[in-house]
Amino acid sequence: MDTQTPYAERVQEIKETMAAAARAADRDPAEVTLVAVSKYQPIEAIAAVHAAGQTHFGENYIQEALDKQDQCDISPIQWHFIGHLQRNKAKFVPGRFDLVHTVDSVRLAQMLDKKAAEAGVVQAILLQVSLAGEEQKAGLAPEALEETLDTVGQLPHLQLQGFMTMPPYFNDPERVRPLFCRLRELRDEAQNQLGRELPHLSMGMSGDFEVAIAEGATLVRVGTRIFGPRPQKSL
Ligand SMILES: *Cc1c(COP(=O)(O)O)cnc(C)c1O
Repeated sequence: MDTQTPYAERVQEIKETMAAAARAADRDPAEVTLVAVSKYQPIEAIAAVHAAGQTHFGENYIQEALDKQDQCDISPIQWHFIGHLQRNKAKFVPGRFDLVHTVDSVRLAQMLDKKAAEAGVVQAILLQVSLAGEEQKAGLAPEALEETLDTVGQLPHLQLQGFMTMPPYFNDPERVRPLFCRLRELRDEAQNQLGRELPHLSMGMSGDFEVAIAEGATLVRVGTRIFGPRPQKSL
């Protein structure tokens, strides 16, 4: 079978670029995981990217993600939830996603904890942090982190693994570098506060993942550079 689909070439090229960025920063390439962002992409595209050796996929919309999970029997596969999560959708998450990147309030965390308890699972999460002030609506303000950590760090059915950010500028990676750097500093402070490791930093997308890796990213979320342009509407 010919596995050299355009997807296979792109995944290979991105993984090589990621590894080079890690080595340039004196990091082990194995520390950085590629999450293929498959929102709006059909299952056939996910299957083709999976056939290229890619097992982590990120989705933004709960219903679309659950439908895709139900329709595709691809394994092994790890699903990441990377979209805005409304509290009334929290019940759909535990047990269905390996990692939720986008917990952006104490109230959402408490709801997820409750739903994870009901499902009998511990849900791995990241806190989404907003680093660009007014321009960036989604995410916790850095000033809110200390208090948030006090609460979220205690929730028994959530396992906090780190931070995520989504900067507002996409065109100039050098403009986002200070934000990536800041996220790592905030993570380091949070580790001190909690007295334990927070291993993950989810930062970097198609246009800026190399800079993100230089600044410590462990999860990069890449969509268009793998799949090409997104179809306009949800499936
Ligand atoms: C869509 C999306 C991505 C991927 O963006 P690309 O520019 O296509 O790589 C990454 N993270 C989040 C949160 C997204 O919504």
